[in-house]
Amino acid sequence: MFDVNKIRKDFPILSRQVNGKPLVYFDNAATSQTPQQVIDVIVDYYSNYNANIHRGVHTLSQEATDKYEAARLTIQQHFNAKHAYEIILTSGTTHSINLVANGFATLLQKGDELIVSALEHHSNIVPWQMLCEKTGAILKVIPMTLEGELDMNVYTKLLSEKTKLVFVNHISNALGTINPIATIIKQAHQVGAAVLIDGAQACPHIKPDIQALDVDFYVTSAHKICGPTGVGMLYGKEEWLNKMQPYQGGGEMIDQVSFEKTTYAGLPHKFEAGTPNICGGIAFGAAIDYMNAIGFDQIATYEHELLEYGTKKLLEIEGLKIYGTSKNKTSVISFNVDGIHPYDVGTLLDKMGIAVRTGHHCAQPIMDFYNIPGTIRASFAFYNTKAEIDALVEGVKKAKMMLS
Ligand SMILES: *Cc1c(COP(=O)(O)O)cnc(C)c1O
Repeated sequence: MFDVNKIRKDFPILSRQVNGKPLVYFDNAATSQTPQQVIDVIVDYYSNYNANIHRGVHTLSQEATDKYEAARLTIQQHFNAKHAYEIILTSGTTHSINLVANGFATLLQKGDELIVSALEHHSNIVPWQMLCEKTGAILKVIPMTLEGELDMNVYTKLLSEKTKLVFVNHISNALGTINPIATIIKQAHQVGAAVLIDGAQACPHIKPDIQALDVDFYVTSAHKICGPTGVGMLYGKEEWLNKMQPYQGGGEMIDQVSFEKTTYAGLPHKFEAGTPNICGGIAFGAAIDYMNAIGFDQIATYEHELLEYGTKKLLEIEGLKIYGTSKNKTSVISFNVDGIHPYDVGTLLDKMGIAVRTGHHCAQPIMDFYNIPGTIRASFAFYNTKAEIDALVEGVKKAKMMLS
């Protein structure tokens, strides 16, 4: 059974104090905390088998290679990708998106159309703008509604035989909206366009099935699912990965090198130039194992309880407004208090040991849509509690009194 008190004991950081108060960590959408099980894997790597992979004949190198490739298999199975070589290990979501945007540079022509959504993180906007500048392709935007959902009627109209690529997040980091990606993918495929899903915000909450979705690219970061920073995944369908140019040249990604001609290695190594984050990759696998041992069904059910409880309690505060009110959302609450700057509330909450994020959450177009400078974002993970939400509510009330 799901026992939050037992789970909390896995996370050493949750027992520390901040400014003399017990830490309440509600910045999970920016990065998650790390359980002892994953920390142990990191310590074990550097204590016992730190070595470069794929090239060495010595024992340490073979052990590190075996563990790194085993992590790739764990990731493949978790996401239900068809082949392990379709899993490219990157430094994270941002790297993965840049890799695909770069790989499409030779596949696009002037006037081709790309579709993005109004709900995106900057890392799923800027690389594509750079690609458009390079190729003369045109960027079209799926607008959002007041509830923070995508306007799917407009999406359907934007699609045409000119559309080459659609990129949308699975879940919005700023608002928590769960986007209808199965429909988005199906409709894009009907006009022959490929789809990239930014799963950075989805993977802490749900377990995506890549083959069932029939998605062309799916990207995520380990640090949002209890793993370390600086490592992440690009899933790419074999046929697309084969068509794309490599992103970086260097060691590991070649077959033969001479000054006349270099040939590239096969998948996944073609896209993995240089020494990777070996320890990070292994810890990424361990983080997935940890989350699966708790179970994503249990996680989703519990987090939904936290979301409903937090929404109800926060809305009892007069003058508090929540942005992102879709029925389909995860445990992210973005809000403002009438007449008070989000930054001031965040600063006061920190004095009370409560970590929230304030600002535009790397999604300025959403803030522009609501005509606000930013929000206060409380994002809950499966290791948070209702008592912590009570502390947040009390903290916001206090901050409101002090600031108004
Ligand atoms: C966190 C996040 C990113 C960026 O991830 P990095 O690990 O910083 O590369 C992109 N998109 C969404 C939706 C995110 O939540």
